[in-house]
Amino acid sequence: MHISEIINHFAEDRENYSNAAVPPIAQSANFCYKSVAQMRHALQNEHLVPFYTRGSNPTTDLLRKKLAALEHTEDSLLFASGSAAIAAAIMANVAMGDHVVCIQKPYSWTAKLLNNILGRFGVTHTMVNGRDFSNIQSAIKSNTKVIFLESPNSWTFEMQDLEAVADLARAKGILTMIDNSYASPILSNPADFGIDIILHSATKYIGGHSDAVAGVLCCSHEMSLKIFKGEFMTLGGTLSPFNAWLLLRGLRTLPLRIKQAANNASALVSYLENHPMIEKVYFPFSSTYEQNDLAKKYMKGNAGQFTITLKTKDAEKVEKFCNAFEFFLLGCSWGGYESLAFPAITLYDSMNYNSGVFPPNMIRFYAGLEEKELLLQDFEKAFRAIQ
Ligand SMILES: *Cc1c(COP(=O)(O)O)cnc(C)c1O
Repeated sequence: MHISEIINHFAEDRENYSNAAVPPIAQSANFCYKSVAQMRHALQNEHLVPFYTRGSNPTTDLLRKKLAALEHTEDSLLFASGSAAIAAAIMANVAMGDHVVCIQKPYSWTAKLLNNILGRFGVTHTMVNGRDFSNIQSAIKSNTKVIFLESPNSWTFEMQDLEAVADLARAKGILTMIDNSYASPILSNPADFGIDIILHSATKYIGGHSDAVAGVLCCSHEMSLKIFKGEFMTLGGTLSPFNAWLLLRGLRTLPLRIKQAANNASALVSYLENHPMIEKVYFPFSSTYEQNDLAKKYMKGNAGQFTITLKTKDAEKVEKFCNAFEFFLLGCSWGGYESLAFPAITLYDSMNYNSGVFPPNMIRFYAGLEEKELLLQDFEKAFRAIQ
């Protein structure tokens, strides 16, 4: 199916809602039946048939089908946040005594799940530099059950060789998962390379309007049923029907939004790579990016995120630079309509600028949907502020 067919037509049931172009929001917690037999059927098939909205809901199910199709998987499950999806995926597949191999510098709350929570239940992990496949290979132990990837990750965009990891994991009976939030289902489909569970913070590109927090997990029917019956229903991080509807609306323009953000990011990166006040630009599709071959193999193109380090170690100057932007708003996240700047200095107590993973002169950007001229002007303004 073409992407637009999935987005515009697939799984729509317009005749069942007065031929409305847009599906209604089934803002209902529960569903009611004419007979015991019907009710029993719904309850016995709660994974697929609306019975109670913590499990299944018509609005959410429509989105679920479209996202599974976009990620080239059999099924998907939606969550109230990307973090809920990640936690459910990992927790459903480990038990006491098991081990997880995870890439270094995953999304911060993925790290907290592994570091602060799963350890309490006897699940250990090793974090490795996943740029080098052999690091992943040598971290595997006899009790390794999950390999968790994020390619590219979200500040410095390190990538992993998905096919190599998937082949190794299959041979050893280990499950592979990837946080694919950077690329969205438009730019990368890790299932095509053998990855078992694909995760997204749907808050980012999929929703695309900075108005709903959501997560999705894409996988086989079998895995989806296992997670549904376990962590999905038990922990109950359900996406609301209204937020599912917002995501459906966002999804209609996903390819266009990605295109605009990507064009803006490319233009800004070309400008910044030649700027005398820039130390380094991190961008998977720049010709100087160390893993350019992997970027080209696993992604159809770049997204809107890039990171810079300024040619100064002076945190006050970095702060001044960031404060000078007018159109890049200071904030976390990405994938919305608005351009964003996220300075690493906000991650740390101002007394400990050098204590963290990212240096104080590092700033992550998301190029939103504005005209590129406006964004270029904004950078010029910020550079002038620290000249
Ligand atoms: C935002 C984000 C998450 C978490 O998603 P939420 O929807 O905020 O819970 C996970 N991974 C990455 C890479 C993210 O950017």
